[in-house]
Amino acid sequence: MKLKIAIQKSGRLHEDSIKLLKECGIDINNGVNKLKTEASNFPLEVFFLRDDDIPQYIEDGVADIGIVGENVVLEKQKQVNIVQKLGFGKCRLSMAVEKSFDYTGVQDLQNKRIATSYPVIVADFLESNGITAEIHEISGSVEIAPGIGLADAICDLVSSGSTLFMNGLKEVETVLKSEAVLAANHNLQPAQQQLLDKLLFRIQAVKKAKNTKYILLNAPNDKLNEIISLLPGMKSPTVLPLAEAGWSSVHSVLSENEFWDIIESLKAAGAEGILVVPIEKMVI
Ligand code: ATP
Ligand code: MG
Repeated sequence: MKLKIAIQKSGRLHEDSIKLLKECGIDINNGVNKLKTEASNFPLEVFFLRDDDIPQYIEDGVADIGIVGENVVLEKQKQVNIVQKLGFGKCRLSMAVEKSFDYTGVQDLQNKRIATSYPVIVADFLESNGITAEIHEISGSVEIAPGIGLADAICDLVSSGSTLFMNGLKEVETVLKSEAVLAANHNLQPAQQQLLDKLLFRIQAVKKAKNTKYILLNAPNDKLNEIISLLPGMKSPTVLPLAEAGWSSVHSVLSENEFWDIIESLKAAGAEGILVVPIEKMVI
């Protein structure tokens, strides 16, 4: 019994999808031009597909699960479960118009021509804003549509915004925020569900670890209580005596955001030799 996963064959999500599986301790040989491969140390069969096709494969049960952008799941309107957001492939689907367009709000899109590869999501957005506009579906190079007179506005995926900028466009509305997700078939067999749970457990441990750091610092013993009170930690921190009398080494874990908030207070409280190191996996 194997779990069948669909991932992007090539493109923006391909490498991160394979990296995630690797971080979960799953080795797959990623042969170029292969359509299918198997993991050597987990009952997993991997299909390499165009991202557009992944939701359909999952709905049909040809693949049990898949890694695909949330934007694609929503656009394709297939019946799949989004079981986990994965934290990579982050982007937004945005409306953009030419820089010279004096844009004041969505009402300015009324009766305009909008070019996009996401007609379903765009139609939904327009409808919920009470706007009627013409949607022109095009499959690529959407950003050139205004320049060649095909459209007044576009709706396309953006991450840094540099492509829009280079094409003389400005971003005016965020229609959707997206990231890669793990999607699953609605009616998994119990054996597949068990394998998915096992995989999810590993993914969560990896995700948790990414956001969490291990911190080590030296503290004078008379400042220990104050320093410990500053550290959130999983339980209470580990405190070990240093060879130098009157000093201790304090170990704890904290989230990266918390670290930047408390670093100054730790130093002010007398902490020295502060080390922050990455954690590979974290199970709590
Ligand atoms: P395929 O050949 O598989 O159909 P594609 O050209 O449709 O690939 P990619 O450009 O590789 O797709 O993007 C895959 C996914 O990566 C997008 O659907 C989106 O979820 C995510 N993504 C993240 N940042 C961006 C970005 N700046 N532009 C486009 N997609 C992005
Ligand atoms: Mg595609």
